[in-house]
Amino acid sequence: MNLKNLRNSALKEILGAKNLEELEKLQIKYLGRKGELTEILRKLKDMAEAQRQKIGKFANQLKWEIEGMVEKKKKELGFLSSVDKEWVDISAPGHKLPKGYLNPRTLVLRKVEEIFQSLGFSVIDSTEMETDYYNFQALNFPKDHPARDMQDTFYLTDEILMRTHTSPNQVRFMEKHNPPLRVIMPGKCFRRDASDATHDSQFYQVEGLMVDKNISVANFKAVIAEFFKRLFGKEVKMRLRPSYFPFTEPSFEPDISCTFCAGSGCKICKDTGWLEMAGAGMVHPFVFKSAGYSPYEWRGFAFGFGLERLVMMKYKINDIRLLNFGDLRFLKQF
Ligand SMILES: [Zn+2]
Repeated sequence: MNLKNLRNSALKEILGAKNLEELEKLQIKYLGRKGELTEILRKLKDMAEAQRQKIGKFANQLKWEIEGMVEKKKKELGFLSSVDKEWVDISAPGHKLPKGYLNPRTLVLRKVEEIFQSLGFSVIDSTEMETDYYNFQALNFPKDHPARDMQDTFYLTDEILMRTHTSPNQVRFMEKHNPPLRVIMPGKCFRRDASDATHDSQFYQVEGLMVDKNISVANFKAVIAEFFKRLFGKEVKMRLRPSYFPFTEPSFEPDISCTFCAGSGCKICKDTGWLEMAGAGMVHPFVFKSAGYSPYEWRGFAFGFGLERLVMMKYKINDIRLLNFGDLRFLKQF
């Protein structure tokens, strides 16, 4: 057979192969043990010297050329067949992924932050590990102060502890910033409490602080009444009950009229018609001095909410521990 014709038909057929099976057949047809080209190469030894050299050279070149062409085509068809296998119908309806849910505590915290931001307060992040100084001493709890017994503390070393409240950030923030200021500082706190329906060893507080020249209890009442109104979506009655904290003077606790019974008395408010919501007071001169402010020049109020209590009131949840268990049956309801 004429080698030139053989070359033409081989290349044409190989280039035209439509799939890998077809290509393999062509490879056998031309290069296999009984293939057309192999046949010619085998006959070389019977040829005259001059003819053998001339045809041999051309036949060997042709063999390489066909081999190269087959390899190239194999890659091309292999790629196409993998594309075929991986083909995606982009018009097909998707699989529905299970949807996640936000913990109600997260929902309420976001709402709290939104309300205070709209009242001109900044939201400040703060540290969970504290020194004894910031957690107690700077807030007017001296080493032997009996008020320290009010809180059971997780100590990490003699001087380092897990903060028992968010109040240390009052001093930390005032040390770094000049008045006037308005901030809230939400965060996790830790106490060695046995856990029950209303207590857990880990809980969130939202600390608030406002300092300016002429701040009075009236400013506190106005801010906090507006906050409750927006959080619960209705007017609530409020009263301030005298209380005691080492770092505020005077100290008081704001109560709101029970959101469940509107003040007529129910199980949740223990028939009093009132709900305790927070600890608060006017910033103690000692705390201003700790932070380097002049107590003669500046006045301020501070407050601390238990965030979980707000969550439980807002969503009528009766066990604080539900907020920490991650039970989907619970979380799916929000
Ligand atoms: Zn009630």
